[in-house]
Amino acid sequence: MGVRLQAGFRDECGVFGVFDTEDAARLAYLGLYALQHRGQESAGIAVLNSEHIAVEREMGYVADVFTEERLARLPGRTAIGHVRYATAGASLLANAQPIVFATGRGPLALAHNGNLVNAREIRSSLEASGALFTTSSDSEVILHLIARSRAATLGAAIADALSEVRGAYSLLILGREGIFAVRDPNGVRPLSLGMRDGSPVVASETCAFDLIGAKFERDVEPGEIVRLSSDGFSSHRFAFPHATPCIFEHVYFARPDSMVFGRSVAAVREAFGARLAREHPVAADVVVPVPDSGMYAALGYARESGTPFALGMVRNHYVGRTFIEPKQAIRSFGVKVKLNPVRQVVDGQRVVLVDDSIVRGTTSRKIVRMLRDVGAKEVHVRISSPPTMNSCHYGIDTPTRRELIASDHSVEEIRQFIGADSLGYLSAEGMLEAFGRPQQAACTACFTGIYPIAIEEEEREKESALEVS
Ligand code: SF4
Repeated sequence: MGVRLQAGFRDECGVFGVFDTEDAARLAYLGLYALQHRGQESAGIAVLNSEHIAVEREMGYVADVFTEERLARLPGRTAIGHVRYATAGASLLANAQPIVFATGRGPLALAHNGNLVNAREIRSSLEASGALFTTSSDSEVILHLIARSRAATLGAAIADALSEVRGAYSLLILGREGIFAVRDPNGVRPLSLGMRDGSPVVASETCAFDLIGAKFERDVEPGEIVRLSSDGFSSHRFAFPHATPCIFEHVYFARPDSMVFGRSVAAVREAFGARLAREHPVAADVVVPVPDSGMYAALGYARESGTPFALGMVRNHYVGRTFIEPKQAIRSFGVKVKLNPVRQVVDGQRVVLVDDSIVRGTTSRKIVRMLRDVGAKEVHVRISSPPTMNSCHYGIDTPTRRELIASDHSVEEIRQFIGADSLGYLSAEGMLEAFGRPQQAACTACFTGIYPIAIEEEEREKESALEVS
């Protein structure tokens, strides 16, 4: 995960599940630990123990939330877990997941990564017919719809419920019938299946499998419900697929050691960098990444251009959320807390600085200044994605359009603002080519404004409300 010093594009959520194994809660803990980069606000695990579901949820990091004592309160052989960064619904413990619900089909627990674009509309109609909501999260509407379905099996009730919702969702639903793993028909968010000692597992990213010694089997397909059981995986299509996976997972969100949408994140990032070098070559002495997010793209840029790669900036990995921001007068100090240039590497050099994106521009400006302060002769900024101009409505917490510098500034204006000698962004065509998918088979909305799932009026209203607040 890259360094975000201003409120920029932030991560969303991560889910993990394991069926029928010793110490399921402890495995879920490890899985969530590997997915921590996808959400740092809250963590939770729900465990099925005979007919009951026990849940433990708390605000904070996985390692802080789950003490030995807490894990001991979660006996059982089947578990799902969730790490959350609030995307819809306030950042409250009540909104932490998994959400657990008593229904006529027995208890159900749900963990959701994504964002529904018609949740408010469904919620209003459910409330009008007497439903009581316990959270402000959009995910709860899915549980209500499942609870109301008259379908005979839980799998059929899930399919029923999903016929009403629109948006992005990678879901895990835990009930007496086991774990159901679901991806929306567009497959916007990742969800992968694996096996560990005969027990099926499921996770947002494959890096979670590596940590627990599970073998990656395949992705849950867009529009597919997969039931994890003692027979492995049984599959059921609930909708016609139209795959448009989120390209930003490869640009920034996912861990480089994961396989996401069938591709290695590290390899795709390198390909973005190589393409960037071909699109925006420059005579320079060193290629320096902004750690950690620019690392693989910078490697690709360096290899393709034949310019030496150098670690000219160091990131402090130990800055937690509790860092006390200095007063406004000494704010510029803020960037240095997380990033510091290495004078010996950049002094007197013509530097190509590679990062994954520019959000507001203020951090890039500070980094360029820091490099010049330690003697960089020239600073050429290269960005391994196109200008970020639009908000995400599919589960990534993004700034509003007004806050995104590229929404109303040209590349030249941004260059001037950040104080670089030159600035080059990867083109949308180049990004898609490196990703290996055409425009109609990917979501690139935050760059191109082409939203593959229609944005409902309520989502547009959310954005304008944020813009005036
Ligand atoms: Fe991903 Fe951007 Fe599409 Fe959101 S808008 S799903 S961040 S590509």
